[in-house]
Amino acid sequence: MIRCEGTRNGWKMLCNGSLYRCACGHVGCRQTKDGLCTNQGYSVLGRCTACGAVGKAELIAPEAVGFRRTLMQDPQTA
Ligand SMILES: [Zn+2]
Ligand SMILES: [Zn+2]
Repeated sequence: MIRCEGTRNGWKMLCNGSLYRCACGHVGCRQTKDGLCTNQGYSVLGRCTACGAVGKAELIAPEAVGFRRTLMQDPQTA
């Protein structure tokens, strides 16, 4: 199980969010606002904080892929 181990700012609790890996290798979670998690790797718009690429992140939570596959575009074809 791959989950974000960062801390949610303001809540002082484990993030436990889904992790994404950018084409540059940068790994982090996504949040609905900037700066919500100490391990947040992407801006609100999905921009990688390491290389600045947008839309290059792939979900790396295997247990969630099957569940979301019917709702989301397959990252392999994006
Ligand atoms: Zn996080
Ligand atoms: Zn990147």
